[in-house]
Amino acid sequence: MTFQAFLIKYAEIGIKGKNRYIFEDALIRQIELHLERVEGDFTVTKAYGRIYVNALSEYDYEELIAELQKVFGIVWICPVLQLPDEGFSVLAEKIVAYMGEVHPDRHVTFKVDARRARKNYPLTSQDINIQLGEVLLDAYPELKVDVHKPQLTLRVEVRDQFINVYSIQIPGPGGMPLGTAGRATLLLSGGIDSPVAGYMIAKRGVTIDAVYFHAPPYTSERARKKVEELASLVAKYAGPIQLHIVNFTDIQLYIYEKCPHEQLTIIMRRYMMRIAESIAKKNGSMALITGESIGQVASQTIQSLNATNEVCTLPVFRPVIAFDKQEIVTLAEQIHTYETSIQPYEDCCTIFVAKHPVTKPSLNVIHASERKLEEEIDRLVEEAMNTIETVVCRP
Ligand code: ATP
Ligand code: MG
Repeated sequence: MTFQAFLIKYAEIGIKGKNRYIFEDALIRQIELHLERVEGDFTVTKAYGRIYVNALSEYDYEELIAELQKVFGIVWICPVLQLPDEGFSVLAEKIVAYMGEVHPDRHVTFKVDARRARKNYPLTSQDINIQLGEVLLDAYPELKVDVHKPQLTLRVEVRDQFINVYSIQIPGPGGMPLGTAGRATLLLSGGIDSPVAGYMIAKRGVTIDAVYFHAPPYTSERARKKVEELASLVAKYAGPIQLHIVNFTDIQLYIYEKCPHEQLTIIMRRYMMRIAESIAKKNGSMALITGESIGQVASQTIQSLNATNEVCTLPVFRPVIAFDKQEIVTLAEQIHTYETSIQPYEDCCTIFVAKHPVTKPSLNVIHASERKLEEEIDRLVEEAMNTIETVVCRP
């Protein structure tokens, strides 16, 4: 069966009242943007608190669904049959045909769940449930009714213009539509964790910018390309991402020269956070995002997190903070960033790492080490800020 319409269901908790239209309009806008990437002509319409995607031309079903599954805010995608009201017997006939085509295996339990938005329909919802149930059982005796936990629910919605019939609900990603929750800046490395972190925050409706610190010639052009690729993969969900590429080489070399090597990673990370925060503030971001997870490496013990957090005034979102590595990997696989993340290109952190980095840095000790940088560091940071290269990573 070729569906001409898709009912888009979204979570309504917290968006009732006067802000509801902002949420709905943002969702419609995002659906439209995603549909530009699907071959075919579509419109997105809103009618009585329902959002529909209507196909105006031929299209590829799998492609359309896959794209809609990337739109944050969508909870369910329901391919729907929209029928004119031609009386109950015609409706019943069409539903029998629908059932025959859409559910070839009918050895299942089912129920009919009817609703009337139009109250002058001659049958009550309960009448529709009972009468349609009987018609379907007559047509397909292998069906069994179960009103409590049916395997298949046939939904019938009598509306003003037409009657919606659907029984398929495909899960969307959930979350909130992009553009409804401000902007945040993601520290994006080439690893597994930070793309997942960016995805998770974008899923809450937050627009994402990204910052990548590279250290040429210690890190290659290929490593940078990999990060751009990762940003483009996250952009499939989060929309075009401005990626700010910071040349971190001189700062790293200077820290390497002046500070105890077991503190390098922490001090370096503090400068990353400082620079990322400056970039964020310049671009209207109200938070930073990292892929840190407690205890994953020396620089992510609570003490280390405390040391890197200290230099920031913006909130730092760490959505994978309590995830095990495997849980992050599972999510990375689901959002298709994993394959790119595991490509073996050097990271600017790993080049200068000490054999035995501190795991419980004391803030006093770190402050003392950073004082050794006083002479040159402000100039180097300024230079890094002035030589930022920004690329837009599109889906
Ligand atoms: P990931 O897998 O995300 O790279 P990781 O396990 O390698 O993380 P770290 O290298 O300690 O962990 O980095 C922790 C976080 O710091 C990363 O998730 C990322 O947000 C940020 N980060 C690390 N290196 C860079 C970099 N070169 N550019 C931008 N952000 C970085
Ligand atoms: Mg990393």
